[in-house]
Amino acid sequence: MSKIVVVGANHAGTAAINTILSNYPGQEVVVFDKNSNISFLGCGMALWIGKQISGPEGLFYSSQEKLECNGAKVHMETEIKRVDFDNKVVYGMDKNGNEIAESYDKLILSTGSLPIDLPIPGKDLENVQFVKLYQHAEDVIKKLENKELKNIVVVGAGYIGVELAEAFQRCGRNVELVDLSDSCLSGYYDSEFREMMKENMVKNGVNVNFGEKVLELKGNGKVEEVVTDKKTYKADMVILAVGFVPNNILGKENLELFRNGAYRVDLTQKSSLEDVYAIGDCATVYDNSIEDTNYIALATNAVRSGIVAAHNVCGTKLESIGVQGSNGISIYGLNMVSTGLTLEKAKALGYDAIATEFADLQKPGFIEHDNDTVFLKIVYDKNTRRVLGAQMASRQDISMGIHMFSLAIQEKVTIDKIKLLDIFFLPHFNQPYNYITMAALSAK
Ligand SMILES: Cc1cc2nc3c(=O)[nH]c(=O)nc-3n(C[C@H](O)[C@H](O)[C@H](O)COP(=O)(O)OP(=O)(O)OC[C@H]3O[C@@H](n4cnc5c(N)ncnc54)[C@H](O)[C@@H]3O)c2cc1C
Repeated sequence: MSKIVVVGANHAGTAAINTILSNYPGQEVVVFDKNSNISFLGCGMALWIGKQISGPEGLFYSSQEKLECNGAKVHMETEIKRVDFDNKVVYGMDKNGNEIAESYDKLILSTGSLPIDLPIPGKDLENVQFVKLYQHAEDVIKKLENKELKNIVVVGAGYIGVELAEAFQRCGRNVELVDLSDSCLSGYYDSEFREMMKENMVKNGVNVNFGEKVLELKGNGKVEEVVTDKKTYKADMVILAVGFVPNNILGKENLELFRNGAYRVDLTQKSSLEDVYAIGDCATVYDNSIEDTNYIALATNAVRSGIVAAHNVCGTKLESIGVQGSNGISIYGLNMVSTGLTLEKAKALGYDAIATEFADLQKPGFIEHDNDTVFLKIVYDKNTRRVLGAQMASRQDISMGIHMFSLAIQEKVTIDKIKLLDIFFLPHFNQPYNYITMAALSAK
């Protein structure tokens, strides 16, 4: 039996803790988290703010009580401030100011990520909000009770900014979405998909302002204006959603770091130090689409990395199979999913990449209801023929299709293998000439 200390008990930590406790009875698991809650699904934040769900209760799937019921010793509202990696002791402080020292045999760091703090004047004004924690969402919702709060500027048009822009518009607010890049969802989708999402937002009443750099937030105590290099926007609230950085405060002097500061881990989630593992948003992943180490902060990766670390910490060797950055978004009924590399990204990385595309009704024309166009783009390497990425969009739920492409990237499947793949047909779901087959068949 060994003593395992887990620092951070959100998605990654919870997955590790539960895997240890349910597979390796008898292990001593001691958990610290500085927050007062566990397992908040940030992905539900926009749904809660936009009143598409009735409340936040269902946005948690674990708790201190549940973890303790499984056998962990859990210290909430206790921040670990320092780790003595040589003597294997973590030091921290609980909410009452009591100092804590806990020794470990194995340490799992699951300290997650922190919102990027834009270095601009005015960022500390009242009503300038980050959006990461349950408490952030609670705060925003409370402020929205004030009907005088009419103009909201969302800075950052990644998936979180886009989701929140929709949520605020649904609450009847005037929303300005601002981003430095030329469109939304950069990095996840090629320009035609980004354009589709942009038009979708504009059509539904969100004002989009791309290619603009935010220079300053102005106000008198409370925020009143957002100044960019092109315009000035009225703002009663500003949401800063420009991304996240790995939270490496505890080990940055001692552990090997990736270029963005994430703890560099191997396929077993082990860091550069023996007996120290790192999982979730604070750690690197192995990215199959580039066949290299990368940083992709997603709850799905956090959970998987937690499972992998748990087994290795307990003596069962298990290697991660890597990830492709599979993701999805649904805005005003427009569903988009993608995995691996976009064509733009693949070319920028030096691949001799091309793409094959297909668009058609999802189901035969005689299906008169719940039938819409599906757009599919598959990116592949011209020389090796290996699938590098895929993007799909539709007002129908086509999300499950992307999992196949995720596996294709993981297993280095070529585009030619997909051409005559056995894909079933039933008019309730698709066409006899399936859009995946059609896209693959037209690959050069
Ligand atoms: C608005 C929003 C929407 C999102 N939507 C999606 C989505 O749809 N799909 C998806 O896959 N991902 C989504 N994500 C990303 C996902 O939430 C993160 O990838 C995930 O939270 C990472 O989990 P984690 O446990 O690694 O880290 P975190 O969630 O950051 O948790 C880290 C934990 O460590 C604790 N901690 C940190 N330092 C210390 C310390 N020194 N001492 C004690 N405790 C400490 C923190 O309190 C926290 O509980 C979204 C994120 C946000 C903010």
